Amino acid sequence: MKIKTKLRLGFAFLFIVVIFFGATALYYIQVISASAKVILKDNYETLNYTKNMRALLDENAAPFEKNVLQQFNRELAKQEKNITEAGEKEATLQVREAFDQLSSESPSSPQLLKAIRANLRTIETLNMNAIVRKNAAAMSSVKKATLYLSMAGTFAFLVLLSFSVNFPGFIAGPLKLLQDGIREIGEKNYSQRLNFDKDDEFGDVAAAFNQMAERLNEWENSNLAGLKSEKLRIETIIEQMQDAIIGLNEQDQILFINQAAETIFNLQKAEVTGQPIHLLTKRNDLLKSIIGTENILKPLKIYANEKESFFKVESREINIPNLQANKDNALRQASVSAGKVIILRNITEFKERDEAKSNFIATISHELKTPMSSIKMSLQLLNDERIGALNPEQQGLVSNIKSDCDRLLRISSELLDLSQVETGNLKLNISAIDPLKILDYAIDTVKFQAEQKEVKLEVQAATGLPQVHADTDKTAWVLVNLLSNALRYSHEKSRIIISVKAEASKLIFSVRDFGKGIDEQYQKRLFERYFRIPADGSSKSGTGLGLAISKEFIEAQNGQIWVESAIGEGSSFSFALPVG
Ligand code: ADP
Repeated sequence: MKIKTKLRLGFAFLFIVVIFFGATALYYIQVISASAKVILKDNYETLNYTKNMRALLDENAAPFEKNVLQQFNRELAKQEKNITEAGEKEATLQVREAFDQLSSESPSSPQLLKAIRANLRTIETLNMNAIVRKNAAAMSSVKKATLYLSMAGTFAFLVLLSFSVNFPGFIAGPLKLLQDGIREIGEKNYSQRLNFDKDDEFGDVAAAFNQMAERLNEWENSNLAGLKSEKLRIETIIEQMQDAIIGLNEQDQILFINQAAETIFNLQKAEVTGQPIHLLTKRNDLLKSIIGTENILKPLKIYANEKESFFKVESREINIPNLQANKDNALRQASVSAGKVIILRNITEFKERDEAKSNFIATISHELKTPMSSIKMSLQLLNDERIGALNPEQQGLVSNIKSDCDRLLRISSELLDLSQVETGNLKLNISAIDPLKILDYAIDTVKFQAEQKEVKLEVQAATGLPQVHADTDKTAWVLVNLLSNALRYSHEKSRIIISVKAEASKLIFSVRDFGKGIDEQYQKRLFERYFRIPADGSSKSGTGLGLAISKEFIEAQNGQIWVESAIGEGSSFSFALPVG
């Protein structure tokens, strides 16, 4: 039944109860007033008539005058019309008969008067009894009315009470259940259902709610199934990757590790999942060596799977968008950390290829050096007058071949140096040495070049400099390389300042030129292998290895190398080495 109908029936029932109560009250008021009316109107009037008749007889002496008789007759006539009780009629008839005789007789007989009086008394007694009886009846009606009305009142009160107690619950109960259900759905509990078992509007609402929850459940499950299969796919990919991968949550507990990581770190997935990483590092040295030193540039050499492998350690913070419904139901978006992933990239293959390349370059450059040197010797012999004079063209050709030969020798020796660095075969011969000696050696080497370009080499060095802790050859090589670059990129007739100064347990060597300078965007990349500033390549020859080798040499000696430059103002290349 619909709530609307129920409400209508409920109110109709209340209305009927009120009407019933009112009607009962009205009925009993009517009954009581009717009884009272009868007492007043009939019996009371009769008593009045008889009292008047008796007074006429008592106050006048027989024989009665005519007007007394007339008055008596009037009262008697009224009484004859007002007969209500059983026996009253007979007594009134006898009064009439006696009065009729009394009116015709004179003098009147005392028996007649006596008879009239006796009958008047009978009439009075009958009416007095009737009054008493009717009063008792009225009283009982009042009692009955009081009883019935109080019963009806109690009944109406109880009905209203139960209505007012039950009615709010009847509406609010299902609403509360509905509210709870909606809250559960809001908390993603899509298995929530409402069972109202009712055929009304609440039943319809419950059916619609259940249908909605079912659809949401289906949707969630289908999404979940999709997500699960995607998760499985990603997990399989991660599992089968060559690189070792360890996933950590924001509390640094292990979320997952793949097969490669298990092998490399000698860990068991089942044992370590959920464990805080700092606990594992206590008993796993390899793990300890990579945690905290993430993103180290040097490849990590690890012996796993019965062979040596090289790994590059990378650590990535995982930041995910934070979508959170706050109390105002507004969406707040920000990025929150969801942990990090540590990847040990397997670079063994690249490392092997790189090594092969370095060895190849080392062999080639080494093998080239011998024929090149013999070509150089032959060229010197060609220039010897004793073998035969060369004409000017031939001399020009020989000098060209000689400079090309020098270049090739320089390139092959640079390649050899680099391959030495790359294969880890760099041998340093460190000793405490006077920095001015290195300076002189380097200046001597480039003097001829400088003279040709008419570039002035200025030396700025304080006296009493401490000795430097370095490999003389390698440091001189670097200084020569910097000076050659400075000469190469200086204008003719300009100058180059070579300085050395002591600064906090370090000696700083600088080569300052006044050439065109280097654009800031290239400055960081100058020390990379094979890097050359794009526009320079066509005009100036070079390999792009000089600065890279210089960096390796200086860093191998615990030093630093850097550049300061501005376009149009020239460049200053410096390196610092520890004081000896
Ligand atoms: P390269 O053999 O080409 O000189 P380097 O590693 O010595 O190789 O230098 C790399 C590049 O840096 C050069 O190609 C050049 O463009 C730039 N460079 C080096 N020194 C200077 C300098 N003093 N002034 C301007 N550019 C320079």
